[in-house]
Amino acid sequence: QETTSDSNKYIIATDTVFAPFEFTDASNKFVGIDVELLDAIATDQGFEYELNSLGFDAALLAVEAGQADGVIAGMSITEERKAKYDFSDSYYESNVTMAVAIDSDISSYEDLSGKKVAVKTGTKGADFAKSIMEQYGFEITEFSDSPNMYQDVIVGNTVACFEDYPVMAYNIKQGAKLQMPGDIKESGSSYGFAVSKDKNSELLEMFNKGLANIKANGTYDEIIEKYTK
Ligand code: GLN
Repeated sequence: QETTSDSNKYIIATDTVFAPFEFTDASNKFVGIDVELLDAIATDQGFEYELNSLGFDAALLAVEAGQADGVIAGMSITEERKAKYDFSDSYYESNVTMAVAIDSDISSYEDLSGKKVAVKTGTKGADFAKSIMEQYGFEITEFSDSPNMYQDVIVGNTVACFEDYPVMAYNIKQGAKLQMPGDIKESGSSYGFAVSKDKNSELLEMFNKGLANIKANGTYDEIIEKYTK
């Protein structure tokens, strides 16, 4: 098999912290839905890989630059991204939501007027915030990872952040001092594994076949349930 590295392992890039899709657990193990789906698919299809946790924006750039063969990072399949990446079949449905501090009285986009809002570079959440920032008159501060974005809202430097709904819901359940006013769900999208456009097509094919197999044999459901129950 052809890979970007000298070994016969595919280099797969991912985010650093995007729970429950990828994160480091209490026993210091890198885990999550993406991590386990990739592993189950690789086992099913008999390919080897090395998972590199780079950050979301960095992971996309690594694939684009040919430093990684693929990316699995809760990455939304979008028409715009299809110019640069080929996507697998989708493996999870998602949306963008707004989160504010637990004691905040911000309840709508109108309340963001004149305030600062946190986003994560290169994400759909950032795109969505940028698409409404003029209309609602807020400013944007960018972060390269989700935990620092949340923290900025919690300490009150920014009054809200835009994040994927399932990720925000999971973090709030785990105790993040944030809330989602109105349980907003914007910009629906599904997550896919991606490779550089017209490259590593055999890897993409194996991902799709493996995904279909683990959906058929129950492994997919087990993994999702483990992290979302
Ligand atoms: N789903 C979002 C996107 O693709 C965010 C992904 C992430 O932050 N890891 O833009």
